[in-house]
Amino acid sequence: MPTEPDTHYDPTLGNKFIFVTGGVMSGLGKGITAASTGRLLKNAGFDVTAVKIDPYLNVDAGTMNPYQHGEVYVLEDGGEVDLDLGNYERFLGVDMTSDHNITTGKTYQHVIEAERAGDYLGKTVQIIPHITDDIKRRIREAAEGTDVCIVEVGGTVGDIEGMPYLEALRQFAHEEDEEDVLFVHVTLVPYSKNGEQKTKPTQHSVKEVRSIGLQPDVIVGRCEDRLDPETKEKIALFCDIPTEAVFSNPDVEDVYHVPLMVESEGLDQFVLERFGLDDRALPAEERTNEWREIVTTDKEGEVDVALVGKYDLEDAYMSIHESLKHAGFEVGTDVNVEWVFADDLADGHDGQLEGVDGVIVPGGFGMRGTEGKIEAIRYARENEVPFLGLCLGFQMAVVEYARNVLGLEGAHSAEMDEETPHPVIDILPEQYEVENMGGTMRLGEHTTVIEPETLAYELYDDTSCTERHRHRYEVNPEYFEQFEDEPLSFSGTAGNRMEILELEDHPYFLGTQFHPEYTSRPGQPSPPFLGLVEAVVERATTDTDDAESTTETDTEAETEVSH
Ligand code: GLN
Repeated sequence: MPTEPDTHYDPTLGNKFIFVTGGVMSGLGKGITAASTGRLLKNAGFDVTAVKIDPYLNVDAGTMNPYQHGEVYVLEDGGEVDLDLGNYERFLGVDMTSDHNITTGKTYQHVIEAERAGDYLGKTVQIIPHITDDIKRRIREAAEGTDVCIVEVGGTVGDIEGMPYLEALRQFAHEEDEEDVLFVHVTLVPYSKNGEQKTKPTQHSVKEVRSIGLQPDVIVGRCEDRLDPETKEKIALFCDIPTEAVFSNPDVEDVYHVPLMVESEGLDQFVLERFGLDDRALPAEERTNEWREIVTTDKEGEVDVALVGKYDLEDAYMSIHESLKHAGFEVGTDVNVEWVFADDLADGHDGQLEGVDGVIVPGGFGMRGTEGKIEAIRYARENEVPFLGLCLGFQMAVVEYARNVLGLEGAHSAEMDEETPHPVIDILPEQYEVENMGGTMRLGEHTTVIEPETLAYELYDDTSCTERHRHRYEVNPEYFEQFEDEPLSFSGTAGNRMEILELEDHPYFLGTQFHPEYTSRPGQPSPPFLGLVEAVVERATTDTDDAESTTETDTEAETEVSH
């Protein structure tokens, strides 16, 4: 069965646009709602893409602290973008480019550069029309070659930063055929103390949207439960849309169930009809149901994997968490993530790791947390706990081995300790002259050559893999010789760069200089994560078997005594 539905872009249909705005508060999951709708349109046979608008002045997300916006997601072209793009890639099963993330920084930079180049000679350069024109151009370019383009405006309606975008969308709608543009507004419907669904915040938010000159065609109410019919009627009446255009998006157990919820509410069908695509859509019985099968897989048991990170914020490691879920769907097990704060392990408190069935050390920058990460790696290596190290996690596995096995005292990455006697991880030669921080790392897709008859080869079932990167440091070639003939070997390389490490005589010990978490999808789990979860399940089952046999012996012993 193909994992992705077979869609064929039909240029005769013309591009359709779904503009998604949010009201009342941010963090309502409007991206997931939009991506879920997109997924269903894709299942119906249409090519779907998405654009995320981030109204901040940063040119891209690359320089932002994960505490502010969660993880920086990396695209195949090296774009460092908002984590919502990760959700779109995972839900739509597509690979996007940095052109799919529009920021105020990008737009202004482009317009100001054009002004300096003399492109607007004689004119006063203004937000309207120059910035708004640039926004519209970017949306049209990103939509090229697809049937439906979802455009999500970050933040909430009324934010000063978002105004030029909403104005651009207003103009856009006038320039396109009316039936090709659909406005969706996602709001919060809270409960009152006496259990009543309250529509006033939605009414206010829609009033705000309308004052900007936009009229929502669809309103999606985020609520703990489905909206009551009376709630929908009230929203319809006050916001001037038909009741059939009001949809619920209640809390669900897993984000991957949102498409099933959206489908049960009929939002996808509404969109298809509104765009006049319903008679071109695959008949319901021919649409692939594979998504449903994957995300509702029966799970047997659960395992605990420790994620030893520097930020105690789940969004900072979103793609890793999702990759574990994808592997869990495949293996048929629930993977619980235990968030372990690396700083707490620095003095060797590995008691925190006792009982976990696997350890992940994620990517990161800067000194804080590194000693705790090294400690977690030592624990996993010595206690045969399945381990996956990603980027900085890979680098710290090299440091740990250098210090504790090769006896290179004080070994470190030059990023953390410029004075280290053993810089086993050092700056990439091409970074020597780099001064700017933004967009200057070794970024995006690069190919790794995989050594046959290794764990990496077994996982990828291939002699190469192409994965996304984001780093400035790498294994120092001056130390290659010291790793020769060691149980720790580099099974994946790209020229002189070490890309994958693994350890002999260990159930699962793998590190990757790249970030496999950015290409994992439901139904297509990333090989390093799948391998980890399989090893973790194996360990958890063996442990349980051991525990059971111990109990049996104990019972026998007791029986003997009582005789
Ligand atoms: N800080 C390390 C480097 O720049 C690792 C980067 C990462 O984990 N993404 O090489």
